[in-house]
Amino acid sequence: MAENNFFDALGEKLSKATHTAVDKTGVFLSSTRISAQIAGEQREMEKLYQKLGETVYRMAEEGQFTPDGEVARLVLKIRNRLQVVQNYRKDLAGVKNQNICPHCGNFIDQQAVYCPKCGAEIPVTVPAKPKPGEKKAPVDAEIEIEEAVSLDDFADEQGDLT
Ligand SMILES: [Zn+2]
Repeated sequence: MAENNFFDALGEKLSKATHTAVDKTGVFLSSTRISAQIAGEQREMEKLYQKLGETVYRMAEEGQFTPDGEVARLVLKIRNRLQVVQNYRKDLAGVKNQNICPHCGNFIDQQAVYCPKCGAEIPVTVPAKPKPGEKKAPVDAEIEIEEAVSLDDFADEQGDLT
């Protein structure tokens, strides 16, 4: 038993000695540096996980696949949260006497005719949907209500939400 422990300890010592960590330039890394490297990798992974989540969410919302189980549950949760955020943004715009650009979601002055961020024309009142077959005069920027809310927009506006 004692002999085995001795060889185990020796083996551990040797493996530690032969597995010294070095960075890309061959510089020896202290445990602090290794911990920092791990933390850095984990931060990058978190970003990738978030990106993965946003991609899956978008694909689900665009109908590129039909999520089920846990993915469906998470998609629904995010959709509901986005709706809550959208409602808060409307409240915020009201408090600030502003409107929200229906194209990009930017906060704009109530008098604004065009959105200063995306250039979309701001309808004076919410226009009724055109009847089928009815041709509308072409405008420079089509108002796309469906695209008014995207994750990127919320990332841009997060400062305004707090
Ligand atoms: Zn806009």
